[in-house]
Amino acid sequence: MAQENVNVVARIRPLSNETNDETCIKIDPVSSVITLTTNEKQFHMDKIFEQNAPQEEIFEYIQPIIAAVINGIHGTIFAYGQTGSGKTHTMIGSDENHGIIPRSIEMIFIALNEQSKNRKDNFKFKISCTVLQIYCEKTYDLLNGNEKIEIHSRDILKNAKEVEVKSSNECMKILKCGLEKRKVSGTLMNETSSRSHAILTLTLKTEYFKENKKHERISRLNMVDLAGSENRNHTNNNKTQNFEGANINKSLSTLGQVIREIINPFPNQVISYRSSKLTMILRDSLGGNSKTTVIVNIHSNSKYATETKSTLNFAVNVK
Ligand code: ADP
Ligand code: MG
Repeated sequence: MAQENVNVVARIRPLSNETNDETCIKIDPVSSVITLTTNEKQFHMDKIFEQNAPQEEIFEYIQPIIAAVINGIHGTIFAYGQTGSGKTHTMIGSDENHGIIPRSIEMIFIALNEQSKNRKDNFKFKISCTVLQIYCEKTYDLLNGNEKIEIHSRDILKNAKEVEVKSSNECMKILKCGLEKRKVSGTLMNETSSRSHAILTLTLKTEYFKENKKHERISRLNMVDLAGSENRNHTNNNKTQNFEGANINKSLSTLGQVIREIINPFPNQVISYRSSKLTMILRDSLGGNSKTTVIVNIHSNSKYATETKSTLNFAVNVK
């Protein structure tokens, strides 16, 4: 049952123009199978978006999640993949070619504004957002000067700055401002955008009256641009980078494990949410009734064959 609530899809970015380099995968869009040309190993996805797939097509696929969030159910969308594979392109896109986040925010505002105009039950809504980043298992608040914050298991977002937004434009402005801080960070010194997870959470609160009784609903939409999945452990011997690499590998594998436990539960299973900050923060929005899509982004030039194999392994191990 739970399986229907978690989808794993692949998005292939266009090949980068490098002389004599070619793709390391074959795609069968009908059966949604990707085959590695190096060893003919096959990987089954729920759906494959090929290199020319427009942003509209990806958004159309995840639209049911957004519709569910509008109707009071939690939703989470992850972008997974090595640095340069198209995670940010998929999630945010550009001003001319919007990705999932701006399209989702716009859809939510349009739907809720329409409801408050048309419904006769005194329907009201409130939307607020938080923007966090996790770097080396520490959480930073991108809407509050990238200050480090503590995450408590009871009220996860208690210490995060939550900003109410009145329109999709306002929301995108705040989000972009926050994400700028992810790149240039006083606290972290380094260029960290590919080494941290960025988590945008929209909280929708709606209320309406039925037979003089007030009904309230809260739902969350989490959109997560994960840290680059490339394995840094054996490519350098710098201590900080090794520490970073180990943390990233661990948090990504914990994410895979948690999703796997949600999809294939066994009796008395305790889901390993507490094994990483990322899964702790997302705990309420993963599993149960909530809807999740993992988009694995693939840079298929043969020089990245090792990373592509590892990304595809993540995708199929999750399901
Ligand atoms: P990541 O966030 O995974 O590091 P980016 O989203 O920044 O990767 O993508 C790297 C580069 O590739 C960017 O210049 C981006 O515009 C381009 N790119 C990624 N995916 C696509 C795509 N599907 N179509 C066109 N360009 C893409
Ligand atoms: Mg990026």
